Amino acid sequence: MFNSLSDRLQDTFDKLRGKGRLTEDDINVAMREIRLALLEADVNFKVVKRFVAACKERCMTSEVLDSLTPSQNVVKIVLDELTELLGSTESKLVLAQNRIPNVIMLVGLQGSGKTTAAAKLAHLLKRQGKSPLLAACDVYRPAAADQLATLGGELGVPVYRGDGAHPVDIARGAVQEAVDTLRDVVIVDTAGRLQIDEAMMQEAVDIKAAVRPDQVLMVVDAMTGQDIVNVVSEFAERTDFDGVIMSKLDGDARGGGALSVRQVTGKPIKFVSMGEKPDSLEVFHPDRMAKRILG
Ligand code: GDP
Repeated sequence: MFNSLSDRLQDTFDKLRGKGRLTEDDINVAMREIRLALLEADVNFKVVKRFVAACKERCMTSEVLDSLTPSQNVVKIVLDELTELLGSTESKLVLAQNRIPNVIMLVGLQGSGKTTAAAKLAHLLKRQGKSPLLAACDVYRPAAADQLATLGGELGVPVYRGDGAHPVDIARGAVQEAVDTLRDVVIVDTAGRLQIDEAMMQEAVDIKAAVRPDQVLMVVDAMTGQDIVNVVSEFAERTDFDGVIMSKLDGDARGGGALSVRQVTGKPIKFVSMGEKPDSLEVFHPDRMAKRILG
């Protein structure tokens, strides 16, 4: 992901570096190229507009234009703004200290990577010394509970299935099971549909009301492109949530959705998933991602 965007931005920076001193015209040309590169990467146009305006304003100052290393300053400004766009600071998973078990609930569309993200999150928490329990509340996709049970088995994390029960009761049962078996975090995998629908939203609302999660995370497929923004906004309105797990960042999509989501929806990206392996879930660091994109 972001490969073509990276190449184009590097191209622009290379041209600036070749110039030595920079004029206002040079900055204008560079900003136009950056704007096009972002639009072609499928970044939301309002986000692009704001981003380029902010970069330009900071670049068109005498401090930058008259400095000994103007091109380096321009690169630094674009890097800062990109970091800011992605969320500037790392957004941690917030769990209550005095509540055991903590509950983390995952929501999202079917196929977004929810079930695998639940298992990956369990793996990550286990490595941090926690003892998670997975709750299989996706009762509509027949293979989801089996998939979770298999993943849990591989990772040594118990899975509460509550076969045949209503998802709300499964979530409640899982919390009770965690109390009984001394597990300290319950990760609730919920049902998704291919598209947002009322029943799915209501169920997520009901599960949330029943188990009062410490954190609700929305799993978003980075391959979705700009449409991500609409889906995330709709979930934010209905179920509200604390942050995003961006999955499939290892894919070859252009990445515009991933770059737009924070600014358009205000929801921080908390984790990114870059593969199918259990250890492919990482805490999201906006500065590292921005550096990676700029190359
Ligand atoms: P759910 O319907 O939201 O529970 O989605 P799943 O967890 O079943 O994931 C859907 C598909 O995406 C599965 O084939 C996963 O292996 C795959 N997947 C999930 N996360 C990633 C990721 O970060 N990278 C890649 N390449 N594939 C992923």
